[in-house]
Amino acid sequence: EKSPLKGQVAALSVGIYEGVPVADFDYDEDHLSDTDMNVVMTDAGKFVELQGTAEGEPFSREDLDALLKLAEDGLKQLFAAQRAALAEEKKDMSKKIVLASNNKKKMKEMQELLAPMSAEVVSQGSLGIPSAEEPFGTFVENALAKARWAAKHSGLPAIADDSGICSDALKGAPGVLSARFAGEPSSDAANNAKLIKELEDKDNRNAHYTCVIVAVRDENDPEPLIAIDFWNGTIGYEPKGEGGFGYDPFFIVTPDGKTAAQMTAEEKNAVSHRGKAMRKMRTLLTERWNW
Ligand code: IMP
Repeated sequence: EKSPLKGQVAALSVGIYEGVPVADFDYDEDHLSDTDMNVVMTDAGKFVELQGTAEGEPFSREDLDALLKLAEDGLKQLFAAQRAALAEEKKDMSKKIVLASNNKKKMKEMQELLAPMSAEVVSQGSLGIPSAEEPFGTFVENALAKARWAAKHSGLPAIADDSGICSDALKGAPGVLSARFAGEPSSDAANNAKLIKELEDKDNRNAHYTCVIVAVRDENDPEPLIAIDFWNGTIGYEPKGEGGFGYDPFFIVTPDGKTAAQMTAEEKNAVSHRGKAMRKMRTLLTERWNW
């Protein structure tokens, strides 16, 4: 693609103030100067515009040379500042992280939560990377395995979450098996039906969502960033709401019986296990990776 930008251009005001050539006039200096001059140049040292007026005393050829020299030196500093800003911008654009999830709704939540970061977020699916195995008994081990897998296959830093719902009466089940509680292929409806069936004769309906988020710089990163958070609620008897996903229609989160599926995405992100863990992860990315 052809860039319409051919090079750099910058402008500076110079002038003679109280008999002395000065660069970068402020308003008062401009107002009271003997001579004021605007100089616009390219980084190749050519003029785009040159406009100078003797407001008081006429200026000499020597004065003019001194003013142009001042302008040239000042503009060199401006060009250097422009280049530094562009380099900074470019660096930000090169921050790319792979999201190790193929769950579309979870991806959307994670992408929204990562949006305030300057990094570009790409899904592993868009890079043709298949889902990783999640064979472990803890969320943290599975999240780490998923992040490592995506980093290995993409050659990029990767971020993964492992999450699930844990019921007190079922001793933490469905837990790490939340996605496939009722077997494969995973189905939200079948999972919810199984959970409700297993809680049928239980008085204790307390449960919580857990979310572990792991970020690695590469497959062998010895210092993965790890963020964990929780969301407490109770399991209802009837599904309510159309939002969210998974167990949300049964997960009651307010004293008046509102479920996670009755919240807007924004409301859910503000209080959910994933929203809170992701904010912790954003802090870690800033503090540890300088992102
Ligand atoms: P995984 O982390 O992709 O292995 O699967 C997590 C599973 O936990 C999901 O498929 C859901 O069944 C459940 N889960 C995790 N977070 C949520 C949530 O925010 N709402 C509803 N279900 C969730």
